[in-house]
Order: sequence, then structure tokens, then C-alpha cells
Amino acid sequence: MDVVLFGPPGAGKGTQAKRLTDMLRIPQIATGDMMRSERASGSELGKRFDSFMSQGKLVPDAMVLELVEVRLRKDDAKNGAIFDGYPRTIPQAESLDGMLGKISRKIDRVVSMEVELDEQIQRITGRRTCLACGQVYHLIYNAPPANGRCGNCAGELVQRKDDTEEVVRKRHEEYLANTAPLLGYYGAKDLVVSVSGVGSLDDVTERIKKAIGV
Ligand SMILES: [Zn+2]
Repeated sequence: MDVVLFGPPGAGKGTQAKRLTDMLRIPQIATGDMMRSERASGSELGKRFDSFMSQGKLVPDAMVLELVEVRLRKDDAKNGAIFDGYPRTIPQAESLDGMLGKISRKIDRVVSMEVELDEQIQRITGRRTCLACGQVYHLIYNAPPANGRCGNCAGELVQRKDDTEEVVRKRHEEYLANTAPLLGYYGAKDLVVSVSGVGSLDDVTERIKKAIGV
């Protein structure tokens, strides 16, 4: 089963994608992470990525698609994948459809996780991150130790500069601008199911499972 997962910043998309990959035993396709690791590996494709990334240029869609195709042809992806953060544009979605067709597959479901902006702001602005080990806390949902230091390493906890209301609002606007056309594209193929991203991790996972019929 090939599933595209959409969700605004703070919706818990990465966490849910990870849970789905564990549960369904299919990999997560997060192209940003994959490009970084390909580049670090020094492979031929990685070197080609590097020629763009080192100049701060966008990697061309065709090269990203090539990376996705290589990944989907690996044995652990033969039963499907969870696409997380890709595709982001209609041309990317169209070329992904074309490539999947070549390997006799298609996008089976598009799950749109929905979380109100106020909820996203509360989730993100409450985050505190350990400067030393990267452990993430939340002032309400996952409170740090009473001494205000990291529970793992006693490091200093800070609010990252991206975890502010202003940044959340801006990223939300960008998300809506980018995602709305894609939801229209997949909606026309009758593939989109919306689920509420509010509630416990287990509740949200159950909703997504129901949406994709597993
Ligand atoms: Zn720490």
C-alpha cells in the first residue's frame, strides 16, 4: 500500500509516519532526509545532489524522483511506502504517479491530518529542547524535570528559534498554500481522507489505520 501523509507543522506527522512504518513494515519516504543521507554516503547520486545543495540550490525534481524510485525498488518497499513531506507540488505528484505506474503501483490513499492553528501553536511554542542531547520536552504534555534541566544529561533546555508563534503562523500559511492544490489533485482521484490530528497518539493512529483500511 502506497500512502501519502499530509499534515501541518505540529500535527505529529513524523511521529505517525514512524508508527505506520513499524506497524505496516513498509518504509517512510522522507526525501529531505534521504537526500541528506545520500549526499553523506558519497554515492554517485549523492555527488549530483551535492552539486546543487552545496550552492543552496533546489535539487531538480527529476533527481529526487530517481532517488524515490531507487528506494521503492528495494526489497523492504515492495509492499508499499509512507510518503512523508513528498510530493509537495502538483508536477511532483504527476511525475510520482508516472513512476509508480512503471512499477505497477499507484498512490492508494492520501491522509490529511487536520489540526487547528491554535492547537499547533500550543504544541510548538511549548516545546523545550536540550542544547546538549536534543531531547525534546513540552511544558504541558511532556514536562521537563522540576529543576528545569534535561532529564538525560542535565543540559540546558531552550526554546528553539523556530518554535515561536510567528514562525508557526508563517509555516502554516506556507503549508496551506502548498498543500491545498495537492489535495485538489488527489481529491479529484477520490483518494483523500481527512482525519483529526487531535488527541492521544494512539487515537490518531487508530483514525489513520481506519482511513487506510488496515
Ligand atoms: Zn540532554
